[in-house]
Amino acid sequence: MRLAHGATIWFTGLSGAGKSTIARAVGSLVDGPAEVLDGDELRATVSSELGFSAQDRDRHVCRVGYIAELLARNGVVALVPVIAPYARARECVRRRHVERGSTYLEVHVATPLAECARRDPKGLYDRASRGELHGLTGVDDPYEAPSAPDLRLDTTDLDVPTAADRVVRLLADRGLVP
Ligand code: ADP
Repeated sequence: MRLAHGATIWFTGLSGAGKSTIARAVGSLVDGPAEVLDGDELRATVSSELGFSAQDRDRHVCRVGYIAELLARNGVVALVPVIAPYARARECVRRRHVERGSTYLEVHVATPLAECARRDPKGLYDRASRGELHGLTGVDDPYEAPSAPDLRLDTTDLDVPTAADRVVRLLADRGLVP
């Protein structure tokens, strides 16, 4: 699939929801420049001094949004699997894109907490249940689910190719696939 122009596709949702997996699957379908902005990598680099307070989470999301918009404006499909738990920071990223004429689409990967904890790909829920980790989004830290995402995917009963296909259909519906 070749897109008409760059765009940011932000995947928000709990840890283990499937954001990175779906972002990578969509990236592999894009014929042209596409970049997955990996949340852990960005935390280790551009946000290395930040922690997980509400303020630091918002700062992190704003920084990632800034980078994504730069990429989107320059023809890249920026795929962003970053939790972004607070609506105000997501709104700030959306506004930044709108002001610069860049496309921003929000995909809520709405896999329920119980399923995320069952998958637990990074062992975070296990560590939280042992009391070794505090401030885990959805467990003892807030997650503000988007009220009007461009797409909502609960991957409990959805395989990865089907989930990626839903995103591709969203892009087509929005006229991004010529
Ligand atoms: P996140 O980026 O949201 O933290 P990951 O993509 O890293 O989540 O992990 C999700 C885990 O769930 C992976 O181990 C993935 O293989 C698994 N998984 C099972 N079914 C799906 C699905 N339909 N969509 C996405 N991930 C799935």
